[in-house]
Amino acid sequence: MKITDIRSMRLVGPRNHGVGGGTSTLSKVIVRVDTDAGVYGLGEVDNFMGVREGLAYMRDFFRGRDAFTARALISEMIYGTVAPHNPLTPRQGTVMPGGAIAVSMCSPTATPWGPVAWAASGVDIALCDLIGKALKTPAYVLLGGKYRDRAKVYLDRSSPDDVTDLGAWEKMAAETVASGFTQMKFDIDYMATECVGDIWNRTLSLRQINRIVERLQAVRRAAGPDFEICVDCHMQYNVPDAIRVANALESLNLLWLEDPTPITNPDSCAEVRAKVSVPICVGEMFIAEQFRLFIDRGACDILHPDVLFCGGLHELRRIADYAELHHLPVAFHGNGGALATIAAAHAGVASRNFLGLEYHFVESAWVGEFVRRDVPLFRDGHVELTDAPGLGVELDRELCRRHLAPGESLFD
Ligand SMILES: [Mg+2]
Repeated sequence: MKITDIRSMRLVGPRNHGVGGGTSTLSKVIVRVDTDAGVYGLGEVDNFMGVREGLAYMRDFFRGRDAFTARALISEMIYGTVAPHNPLTPRQGTVMPGGAIAVSMCSPTATPWGPVAWAASGVDIALCDLIGKALKTPAYVLLGGKYRDRAKVYLDRSSPDDVTDLGAWEKMAAETVASGFTQMKFDIDYMATECVGDIWNRTLSLRQINRIVERLQAVRRAAGPDFEICVDCHMQYNVPDAIRVANALESLNLLWLEDPTPITNPDSCAEVRAKVSVPICVGEMFIAEQFRLFIDRGACDILHPDVLFCGGLHELRRIADYAELHHLPVAFHGNGGALATIAAAHAGVASRNFLGLEYHFVESAWVGEFVRRDVPLFRDGHVELTDAPGLGVELDRELCRRHLAPGESLFD
Protein backbone atom coordinates (compact mmCIF):
# COMPACT_ATOMS: atom_id res chain seq x y z
CA MET A 1 0.00 0.00 0.00
CA LYS A 2 2.05 2.89 -1.32
CA ILE A 3 1.72 6.51 -0.28
CA THR A 4 0.58 8.58 -3.25
CA ASP A 5 -0.07 11.97 -1.69
CA ILE A 6 0.08 13.97 1.55
CA ARG A 7 -2.17 17.01 1.61
CA SER A 8 -3.37 19.51 4.18
CA MET A 9 -6.32 21.84 4.51
CA ARG A 10 -6.63 24.79 6.87
CA LEU A 11 -9.85 25.66 8.63
CA VAL A 12 -10.50 28.94 10.37
CA GLY A 13 -13.10 30.11 12.85
CA PRO A 14 -13.71 31.97 16.09
CA ARG A 15 -11.93 31.12 19.29
CA ASN A 16 -14.25 31.90 22.14
CA HIS A 17 -12.41 32.14 25.43
CA GLY A 18 -8.79 31.79 24.40
CA VAL A 19 -5.67 31.96 26.57
CA GLY A 20 -6.25 34.71 29.12
CA GLY A 21 -9.93 34.87 28.14
CA GLY A 22 -11.35 36.98 25.33
CA THR A 23 -12.09 36.03 21.74
CA SER A 24 -9.82 35.64 18.76
CA THR A 25 -9.45 33.67 15.53
CA LEU A 26 -8.22 30.10 15.44
CA SER A 27 -6.91 27.85 12.67
CA LYS A 28 -6.89 24.06 12.57
CA VAL A 29 -5.04 22.10 9.89
CA ILE A 30 -6.18 18.66 8.77
CA VAL A 31 -3.78 16.25 7.03
CA ARG A 32 -4.76 13.56 4.55
CA VAL A 33 -2.46 10.76 3.41
CA ASP A 34 -3.60 8.90 0.27
CA THR A 35 -2.48 5.49 -0.99
CA ASP A 36 -2.59 3.52 -4.20
CA ALA A 37 -5.07 1.13 -2.52
CA GLY A 38 -7.64 3.90 -2.34
CA VAL A 39 -7.48 3.91 1.46
CA TYR A 40 -6.69 7.27 3.03
CA GLY A 41 -5.97 8.44 6.55
CA LEU A 42 -6.72 11.69 8.34
CA GLY A 43 -4.40 13.50 10.72
CA GLU A 44 -4.05 16.92 12.29
CA VAL A 45 -1.18 19.35 12.74
CA ASP A 46 -0.99 22.64 14.54
CA ASN A 47 -0.86 25.78 12.43
CA PHE A 48 2.64 26.66 13.57
CA MET A 49 5.37 28.24 11.49
CA GLY A 50 7.01 25.84 9.06
CA VAL A 51 4.59 22.94 9.58
CA ARG A 52 2.87 23.02 6.21
CA GLU A 53 6.23 23.40 4.48
CA GLY A 54 7.25 20.27 6.38
CA LEU A 55 4.17 18.45 5.12
CA ALA A 56 4.95 19.45 1.53
CA TYR A 57 8.49 18.15 1.99
CA MET A 58 7.20 14.83 3.35
CA ARG A 59 4.78 14.48 0.45
CA ASP A 60 7.70 14.56 -1.97
CA PHE A 61 9.98 12.51 0.30
CA PHE A 62 7.51 9.71 1.12
CA ARG A 63 5.66 9.34 -2.16
CA GLY A 64 5.89 5.66 -3.25
CA ARG A 65 6.80 4.41 0.24
CA ASP A 66 4.92 1.65 2.05
CA ALA A 67 2.28 3.17 4.34
CA PHE A 68 2.51 0.11 6.62
CA THR A 69 6.05 1.16 7.63
CA ALA A 70 4.81 4.13 9.67
CA ARG A 71 7.35 3.95 12.49
CA ALA A 72 10.28 3.63 10.10
CA LEU A 73 9.03 6.56 8.01
CA ILE A 74 8.65 8.91 10.98
CA SER A 75 11.94 7.75 12.50
CA GLU A 76 13.71 8.34 9.18
CA MET A 77 12.26 11.86 8.98
CA ILE A 78 13.21 12.82 12.52
CA TYR A 79 16.49 10.94 13.04
CA GLY A 80 17.64 10.17 9.47
CA THR A 81 19.49 7.10 8.17
CA VAL A 82 23.10 6.34 7.27
CA ALA A 83 24.52 5.82 3.80
CA PRO A 84 23.58 4.21 1.51
CA HIS A 85 20.18 5.24 2.95
CA ASN A 86 16.84 3.72 1.98
CA PRO A 87 16.87 3.11 -1.80
CA LEU A 88 13.28 4.32 -2.05
CA THR A 89 13.97 7.81 -0.68
CA PRO A 90 15.04 10.64 -2.95
CA ARG A 91 18.81 10.59 -3.33
CA GLN A 92 20.62 12.89 -0.92
CA GLY A 93 20.70 16.34 -2.48
CA THR A 94 17.88 15.72 -4.97
CA VAL A 95 15.85 18.84 -5.67
CA MET A 96 12.29 17.69 -5.06
CA PRO A 97 9.21 19.02 -6.93
CA GLY A 98 8.53 21.69 -4.32
CA GLY A 99 12.12 22.96 -4.62
CA ALA A 100 13.39 21.60 -1.30
CA ILE A 101 16.57 19.52 -1.29
CA ALA A 102 16.23 15.94 -0.04
CA VAL A 103 18.23 15.11 3.09
CA SER A 104 18.56 11.49 4.21
CA MET A 105 21.20 11.64 6.92
CA CYS A 106 19.15 13.72 9.41
CA SER A 107 16.05 15.84 9.51
CA PRO A 108 16.01 18.83 7.13
CA THR A 109 16.40 21.17 10.09
CA ALA A 110 19.20 19.07 11.58
CA THR A 111 17.33 19.08 14.88
CA PRO A 112 14.89 16.36 15.83
CA TRP A 113 12.14 18.72 16.96
CA GLY A 114 10.37 21.85 15.75
CA PRO A 115 8.45 21.99 12.45
CA VAL A 116 9.81 18.65 11.21
CA ALA A 117 8.56 16.76 14.27
CA TRP A 118 5.30 18.74 14.26
CA ALA A 119 4.57 17.92 10.60
CA ALA A 120 5.67 14.30 11.06
CA SER A 121 3.21 14.05 13.96
CA GLY A 122 0.29 14.77 11.63
CA VAL A 123 1.57 12.28 9.06
CA ASP A 124 1.92 9.56 11.71
CA ILE A 125 -1.62 10.19 12.98
CA ALA A 126 -2.93 9.87 9.43
CA LEU A 127 -0.88 6.70 8.85
CA CYS A 128 -2.37 5.13 11.99
CA ASP A 129 -5.82 6.01 10.71
CA LEU A 130 -5.25 4.53 7.27
CA ILE A 131 -3.47 1.39 8.50
CA GLY A 132 -6.37 0.79 10.87
CA LYS A 133 -8.82 1.25 8.03
CA ALA A 134 -6.84 -1.10 5.78
CA LEU A 135 -6.72 -3.77 8.51
CA LYS A 136 -10.28 -3.01 9.67
CA THR A 137 -9.12 -2.49 13.24
CA PRO A 138 -9.10 0.51 15.62
CA ALA A 139 -5.89 2.50 15.98
CA TYR A 140 -5.66 1.59 19.68
CA VAL A 141 -5.24 -2.07 18.68
CA LEU A 142 -2.27 -1.05 16.52
CA LEU A 143 -0.83 0.59 19.66
CA GLY A 144 -1.12 -2.60 21.71
CA GLY A 145 -4.78 -2.70 22.67
CA LYS A 146 -6.92 -1.17 25.37
CA TYR A 147 -6.40 -0.99 29.12
CA ARG A 148 -9.68 0.94 29.36
CA ASP A 149 -12.63 1.86 27.16
CA ARG A 150 -12.44 5.62 27.48
CA ALA A 151 -9.87 8.36 27.99
CA LYS A 152 -10.30 10.94 30.73
CA VAL A 153 -10.22 14.56 29.55
CA TYR A 154 -9.10 17.63 31.46
CA LEU A 155 -10.20 21.10 30.48
CA ASP A 156 -7.83 24.00 30.04
CA ARG A 157 -9.66 27.01 31.52
CA SER A 158 -6.75 29.51 31.41
CA SER A 159 -8.62 32.26 33.31
CA PRO A 160 -11.89 34.21 33.21
CA ASP A 161 -12.07 37.33 31.04
CA ASP A 162 -12.03 39.53 34.14
CA VAL A 163 -9.41 38.04 36.43
CA THR A 164 -10.15 40.54 39.21
CA ASP A 165 -13.71 39.22 39.65
CA LEU A 166 -13.62 36.38 42.18
CA GLY A 167 -17.21 35.54 41.26
CA ALA A 168 -16.09 34.87 37.68
CA TRP A 169 -13.51 32.37 38.94
CA GLU A 170 -16.11 30.62 41.07
CA LYS A 171 -18.61 30.57 38.19
CA MET A 172 -16.05 29.11 35.78
CA ALA A 173 -15.12 26.40 38.27
CA ALA A 174 -18.74 25.54 39.08
CA GLU A 175 -19.66 25.34 35.39
CA THR A 176 -16.73 23.02 34.69
CA VAL A 177 -17.77 20.72 37.53
CA ALA A 178 -21.38 20.74 36.32
CA SER A 179 -20.29 19.83 32.77
CA GLY A 180 -19.10 16.42 33.96
CA PHE A 181 -15.36 16.94 33.76
CA THR A 182 -13.26 16.08 36.80
CA GLN A 183 -10.06 18.05 36.19
CA MET A 184 -9.19 21.55 35.02
CA LYS A 185 -6.17 23.75 34.57
CA PHE A 186 -5.41 27.47 34.92
CA ASP A 187 -2.54 29.60 33.65
CA ILE A 188 -0.42 31.22 36.37
CA ASP A 189 0.90 33.81 33.92
CA TYR A 190 -2.61 35.01 33.05
CA MET A 191 -4.16 34.85 36.52
CA ALA A 192 -3.09 38.25 37.84
CA THR A 193 -1.75 40.18 34.86
CA GLU A 194 -2.71 43.50 36.50
CA CYS A 195 0.14 42.88 38.97
CA VAL A 196 2.87 42.42 36.35
CA GLY A 197 5.35 45.28 36.32
CA ASP A 198 8.05 43.80 34.09
CA ILE A 199 7.24 41.42 31.26
CA TRP A 200 10.87 40.34 30.81
CA ASN A 201 12.49 39.42 34.10
CA ARG A 202 10.68 36.14 34.89
CA THR A 203 9.67 37.27 38.37
CA LEU A 204 6.47 36.89 40.37
CA SER A 205 5.91 39.64 42.93
CA LEU A 206 4.39 38.86 46.31
CA ARG A 207 1.38 40.96 45.26
CA GLN A 208 0.91 38.83 42.14
CA ILE A 209 1.36 35.59 44.09
CA ASN A 210 -1.22 36.73 46.67
CA ARG A 211 -3.79 37.48 43.96
CA ILE A 212 -3.09 34.09 42.32
CA VAL A 213 -3.62 32.34 45.65
CA GLU A 214 -6.89 34.21 46.33
CA ARG A 215 -8.25 33.37 42.89
CA LEU A 216 -7.34 29.70 43.06
CA GLN A 217 -8.84 29.53 46.55
CA ALA A 218 -12.10 30.73 45.00
CA VAL A 219 -11.79 27.97 42.38
CA ARG A 220 -11.16 25.35 45.06
CA ARG A 221 -14.16 26.53 47.11
CA ALA A 222 -16.45 26.29 44.07
CA ALA A 223 -15.06 23.02 42.74
CA GLY A 224 -14.94 21.19 46.06
CA PRO A 225 -12.12 19.29 47.76
CA ASP A 226 -12.06 16.30 45.40
CA PHE A 227 -11.82 18.09 42.05
CA GLU A 228 -8.38 17.91 40.43
CA ILE A 229 -6.84 21.32 39.69
CA CYS A 230 -3.58 21.99 37.83
CA VAL A 231 -1.69 25.20 37.10
CA ASP A 232 0.56 26.04 34.17
CA CYS A 233 3.53 28.44 34.29
CA HIS A 234 4.19 28.30 30.52
CA MET A 235 7.95 27.99 31.07
CA GLN A 236 8.08 31.61 32.22
CA TYR A 237 9.61 31.96 35.68
CA ASN A 238 12.94 32.05 37.45
CA VAL A 239 13.77 29.32 39.94
CA PRO A 240 13.16 31.18 43.25
CA ASP A 241 9.81 32.63 42.21
CA ALA A 242 8.59 29.32 40.77
CA ILE A 243 9.39 27.80 44.17
CA ARG A 244 7.72 30.69 46.01
CA VAL A 245 4.43 30.45 44.07
CA ALA A 246 4.35 26.65 44.33
CA ASN A 247 4.78 26.79 48.10
CA ALA A 248 2.16 29.55 48.41
CA LEU A 249 -0.33 27.24 46.67
CA GLU A 250 0.52 24.20 48.77
CA SER A 251 -2.74 24.09 50.76
CA LEU A 252 -4.79 23.80 47.54
CA ASN A 253 -3.64 20.22 46.86
CA LEU A 254 -2.89 20.81 43.20
CA LEU A 255 -2.44 17.81 40.91
CA TRP A 256 0.53 19.42 39.23
CA LEU A 257 2.57 22.56 38.58
CA GLU A 258 3.36 22.68 34.86
CA ASP A 259 6.53 23.95 33.17
CA PRO A 260 7.68 26.25 36.01
CA THR A 261 10.94 27.35 34.33
CA PRO A 262 12.30 27.63 30.77
CA ILE A 263 12.47 24.10 29.37
CA THR A 264 15.93 24.40 27.88
CA ASN A 265 17.51 23.67 31.28
CA PRO A 266 16.41 20.52 33.11
CA ASP A 267 18.57 21.44 36.11
CA SER A 268 16.44 24.55 36.80
CA CYS A 269 13.33 22.43 36.79
CA ALA A 270 14.99 19.81 38.98
CA GLU A 271 15.87 22.51 41.52
CA VAL A 272 12.24 23.65 41.67
CA ARG A 273 11.07 20.05 41.99
CA ALA A 274 13.43 19.42 44.89
CA LYS A 275 12.04 22.36 46.87
CA VAL A 276 8.26 22.06 46.39
CA SER A 277 5.69 19.44 47.33
CA VAL A 278 3.45 19.76 44.26
CA PRO A 279 4.26 17.30 41.41
CA ILE A 280 6.06 18.88 38.45
CA CYS A 281 4.63 18.24 34.97
CA VAL A 282 6.71 19.01 31.86
CA GLY A 283 7.08 18.33 28.20
CA GLU A 284 4.28 19.67 26.01
CA MET A 285 6.75 20.48 23.22
CA PHE A 286 9.16 17.57 23.84
CA ILE A 287 10.08 14.59 21.74
CA ALA A 288 11.09 11.35 23.47
CA GLU A 289 14.76 12.30 23.82
CA GLN A 290 13.92 15.37 25.87
CA PHE A 291 11.79 13.35 28.27
CA ARG A 292 14.72 11.01 28.77
CA LEU A 293 16.88 14.01 29.64
CA PHE A 294 14.40 15.39 32.18
CA ILE A 295 13.77 12.03 33.84
CA ASP A 296 17.47 11.29 34.08
CA ARG A 297 18.06 14.68 35.76
CA GLY A 298 15.24 14.21 38.27
CA ALA A 299 13.35 17.15 36.79
CA CYS A 300 9.76 15.87 36.50
CA ASP A 301 7.00 13.84 38.14
CA ILE A 302 4.50 13.75 35.27
CA LEU A 303 5.30 13.55 31.55
CA HIS A 304 3.15 15.75 29.32
CA PRO A 305 3.69 14.97 25.61
CA ASP A 306 1.40 16.30 22.88
CA VAL A 307 0.46 14.05 19.93
CA LEU A 308 0.86 17.08 17.64
CA PHE A 309 4.43 17.82 18.71
CA CYS A 310 6.14 14.62 19.88
CA GLY A 311 6.17 12.81 16.51
CA GLY A 312 2.66 11.33 16.49
CA LEU A 313 0.84 8.38 18.00
CA HIS A 314 3.64 5.84 17.95
CA GLU A 315 6.01 8.27 19.67
CA LEU A 316 3.30 9.24 22.17
CA ARG A 317 2.86 5.61 23.11
CA ARG A 318 6.65 5.13 23.30
CA ILE A 319 7.00 8.10 25.67
CA ALA A 320 4.19 6.70 27.85
CA ASP A 321 6.05 3.39 28.01
CA TYR A 322 9.27 5.15 28.99
CA ALA A 323 7.43 6.95 31.78
CA GLU A 324 5.93 3.65 32.90
CA LEU A 325 9.40 2.13 33.20
CA HIS A 326 10.16 4.90 35.71
CA HIS A 327 6.80 4.47 37.47
CA LEU A 328 5.71 7.93 36.38
CA PRO A 329 2.28 8.91 35.04
CA VAL A 330 1.74 10.43 31.62
CA ALA A 331 -0.81 13.13 30.83
CA PHE A 332 -1.28 14.28 27.25
CA HIS A 333 -1.03 17.98 26.53
CA GLY A 334 -3.66 18.85 23.95
CA ASN A 335 -3.62 21.86 21.68
CA GLY A 336 -5.54 20.09 18.93
CA GLY A 337 -9.12 19.93 17.76
CA ALA A 338 -11.47 16.97 17.55
CA LEU A 339 -9.19 14.84 15.40
CA ALA A 340 -6.04 15.21 17.49
CA THR A 341 -8.06 14.71 20.67
CA ILE A 342 -9.56 11.45 19.47
CA ALA A 343 -6.16 10.35 18.17
CA ALA A 344 -4.57 11.03 21.57
CA ALA A 345 -7.40 9.12 23.25
CA HIS A 346 -6.41 6.02 21.22
CA ALA A 347 -2.91 6.24 22.76
CA GLY A 348 -4.42 7.03 26.17
CA VAL A 349 -6.52 3.89 26.37
CA ALA A 350 -3.51 1.86 25.18
CA SER A 351 -1.13 3.28 27.82
CA ARG A 352 -1.16 1.73 31.30
CA ASN A 353 0.01 4.88 33.12
CA PHE A 354 -2.32 7.32 31.34
CA LEU A 355 -3.65 10.11 33.58
CA GLY A 356 -5.77 12.14 31.16
CA LEU A 357 -5.66 14.32 28.06
CA GLU A 358 -6.20 18.02 27.66
CA TYR A 359 -8.78 19.95 25.65
CA HIS A 360 -8.84 23.70 25.15
CA PHE A 361 -11.83 24.49 22.99
CA VAL A 362 -15.16 23.62 24.62
CA GLU A 363 -16.40 27.17 23.99
CA SER A 364 -15.58 26.92 20.24
CA ALA A 365 -17.94 24.20 19.03
CA TRP A 366 -16.62 23.98 15.47
CA VAL A 367 -13.18 22.85 16.70
CA GLY A 368 -14.80 19.79 18.27
CA GLU A 369 -16.95 19.00 15.28
CA PHE A 370 -14.84 19.10 12.11
CA VAL A 371 -14.62 15.35 12.33
CA ARG A 372 -17.55 13.25 13.50
CA ARG A 373 -18.18 9.80 14.95
CA ASP A 374 -21.20 7.75 15.98
CA VAL A 375 -20.75 9.03 19.55
CA PRO A 376 -20.20 12.59 20.86
CA LEU A 377 -16.65 13.88 21.24
CA PHE A 378 -17.04 13.88 25.05
CA ARG A 379 -19.33 12.04 27.42
CA ASP A 380 -19.04 12.38 31.22
CA GLY A 381 -15.66 14.06 30.89
CA HIS A 382 -14.16 11.31 28.73
CA VAL A 383 -13.53 10.40 25.09
CA GLU A 384 -15.22 7.04 24.55
CA LEU A 385 -13.64 4.90 21.87
CA THR A 386 -15.59 2.70 19.53
CA ASP A 387 -14.46 -0.36 17.58
CA ALA A 388 -14.56 1.57 14.28
CA PRO A 389 -11.43 1.09 12.12
CA GLY A 390 -8.54 3.54 12.34
CA LEU A 391 -9.35 6.62 14.37
CA GLY A 392 -13.04 6.02 13.76
CA VAL A 393 -13.72 9.50 12.40
CA GLU A 394 -14.82 11.09 9.16
CA LEU A 395 -14.71 14.71 8.09
CA ASP A 396 -17.85 16.77 8.53
CA ARG A 397 -17.54 18.07 5.01
CA GLU A 398 -20.25 20.70 5.38
CA LEU A 399 -18.64 22.17 8.51
CA CYS A 400 -15.22 22.05 6.83
CA ARG A 401 -16.63 23.86 3.82
CA ARG A 402 -18.06 26.61 6.05
CA HIS A 403 -14.75 27.04 7.89
CA LEU A 404 -12.38 26.61 4.96
CA ALA A 405 -9.69 29.31 5.11
CA PRO A 406 -9.28 31.62 2.08
CA GLY A 407 -7.27 29.97 -0.69
CA GLU A 408 -7.74 26.44 0.68
CA SER A 409 -9.33 23.51 -1.15
CA LEU A 410 -11.69 21.00 0.47
CA PHE A 411 -10.37 17.42 0.26
CA ASP A 412 -12.22 15.62 -2.54
MG1 LIG B 1 1.26 24.06 29.23
